[in-house]
This record gives sequence, structure tokens and C-alpha cells, in this order.
Amino acid sequence: MDTSSNGSNGSNGSIRSAEITAVGRVEVLTRPGPQGRPAAGHVRVRMLAVGICGTDLSLASGSRTPPELPWRLGHEGVGEITEVGPGVEEWMIGDRVALEPNITCGQCEYCRRGVTSACASRLSAGVLTQPGFLAEVVDHPSGFCHRLPAGIPVERAVCAEPLTVAAAAIRRTGLQGGEDVLVIGAGAQGLLATLVLVDRGYRPWVREPDEARLRVAIELGAQAFDLGTSPAPQVVIDAAGVPEGLAAVVDRLAPFAKVTIVGEDQDHLGASSFDIVQRQLSIRGSFIYEHPEDMATAVAMLEKLPTEAIVGPGLALDEVSELLGAHSGRRPGVKQWVDLRG
Ligand SMILES: [Zn+2]
Ligand SMILES: [Zn+2]
Repeated sequence: MDTSSNGSNGSNGSIRSAEITAVGRVEVLTRPGPQGRPAAGHVRVRMLAVGICGTDLSLASGSRTPPELPWRLGHEGVGEITEVGPGVEEWMIGDRVALEPNITCGQCEYCRRGVTSACASRLSAGVLTQPGFLAEVVDHPSGFCHRLPAGIPVERAVCAEPLTVAAAAIRRTGLQGGEDVLVIGAGAQGLLATLVLVDRGYRPWVREPDEARLRVAIELGAQAFDLGTSPAPQVVIDAAGVPEGLAAVVDRLAPFAKVTIVGEDQDHLGASSFDIVQRQLSIRGSFIYEHPEDMATAVAMLEKLPTEAIVGPGLALDEVSELLGAHSGRRPGVKQWVDLRG
């Protein structure tokens, strides 16, 4: 077995890969790496870091069904290009990139309208259709790579994809400037939304039951929302998507408040039509982001947003089994990530 951990293909071309092998079980397996030159329009990437989020936990625990077993996880990846396929001219060996895991077709009605998030033929690495990024080396379409700003730490770069989700939710909300904005939930999405809002001059209110997470939000520039005394929010970014979140505040919102839901959960939210109608709320869901502008914008924002403030210490690939296994304990940092630099 090849146990090379230098991050590139082992001497026999093998790579290590973190895969769900059964419900509640994630194993690090040695697999054949990508062989030969990358396909036309693709690049080969030596992975540097991969973030772990609730989607990975749902897939590993079985609350969401992986497309097949074994299933390689990881959709929040950054790496370094080691080889380019035919027809790839925009990338060179050594370029550092964030990978956009949602590969949209560019041809369908929605893609042509610029709303690729609704693409009917969307491929989704690590989640729906393609093996993910939690491996030492992966091949990826060159048009779905985004150049990282020079010199930013890997701990910051690893937040590129979830930051894109948060920033797209805020873009779609259409802020006017100066509103009282409430962020529900201070998990990774809520904290990344907080960072974007603070960067835009807001001091968002945050509602989060976990005191340690709330403290992180306040350190990033938010203020704790109090149901009794805080002003009526004109904008809500719901990064939790659970009944305890939105339903608890819906009758405190300002008339015409705009609510953007980005957190996903199976439970019904429990807001009454009475509150929605009488307050004339606009409620929208925000799913992923539009290719390529949203991720390009978010990756450029990494130059100034200290997203490393929300991540824990990097895990070794071998530690993923324990993190995503059935009996995972809580680790420091709101967001977990795997350090593949070796
Ligand atoms: Zn994610
Ligand atoms: Zn499409």
C-alpha cells in the first residue's frame, strides 16, 4: 500500500481518498490516481485543503443519501495546478485555485438566463454526481477553477466555496444600505454572512443559542439580537433554516422586511401566513450561486475577509474518519477542514 503523504501521486500513481463506505462510516482508501494527461479542458490539481460542512455530515450519517457507495466526499476544495489538459490556456502549473464544485451546463434555459443555480444538468462534485475533492489529486474542468489572491493563507482560502454561498445570499437580497440586518444562526454560513455584511459597513444583529458561536460573531463585528430590545430587522439572512430561528422572530420584523433563507432543514418553518401577509414580508430561498461571477467575486473578497477566524485547526486526512464517523465529538472552531499539504 502506498502511504505517501507528499500530496502528489504516489510512485505507483496511487492517491489517498476519503470515502463514505457505509452509513456512519468514512474510510481513507488508497486509490489509483488520475492517469495520463488530463482530459481536454481539464486541469489536474494537487489538493491543499478541503472544508467540511453540514452537507458532508448529512451524507456521512445517512440523513442524506450519497449517490452511491463508496462515495468520495468534499466540495469545498483549494489546490495547486500540476498539469493542464489539451485546450487549457488560462492556467499554468503552480497556479493556486479554488474549485467550483457545481459544474453547470451553460446550455439549458436557466444557464442561458444566467441563473445557473437552477441548471437542469448540473454536476455536483462530492454531493450529487461526481467524486469529491477529499483526495490528494483530482481533475477538474478548467472553467470551474478560480485563481486565489496571491499570498493568502490556506486557512482562509478553504472558505472560498461556503463564502460564495453566503455572499450570493446577500447579493440576491438586494441591500439598500443602512438597514438593520438580522443573521439567524452563527454556524459557518451565519459567520461568513456576518463577515460580508461587516465588510459592507453593516453591524449585523445575530441570533444564536450557542454562546461560543455568538461570541465569534461578536468578535467579527456583529451584535447580539435581543427579541425584546433590538430594533425590528428590515432584512433577515436565515443561515439556520430551522423553526426555532425564523418563527421566533417573524412577528418582530419590520413591515416589508426581506427574508433570505440559506440554511436548509427538513422541518417546516412555522411562520404563519398572518405574520407574512400583515407584515408584507418578502421571503426567498437562496440556493448555491451563479457561475462564474459569484465565486469569482467571493474569491476576490478573500483578499480582505479574515475567514480563517472561523476555522478550527486543520485535520489530517486520516482524522476525517473520526470527524465524520458515527461518534464524532465536538472540535474547536466553527468550521472543520482537512489540511492536505502534507
Ligand atoms: Zn459545503
Ligand atoms: Zn444548465
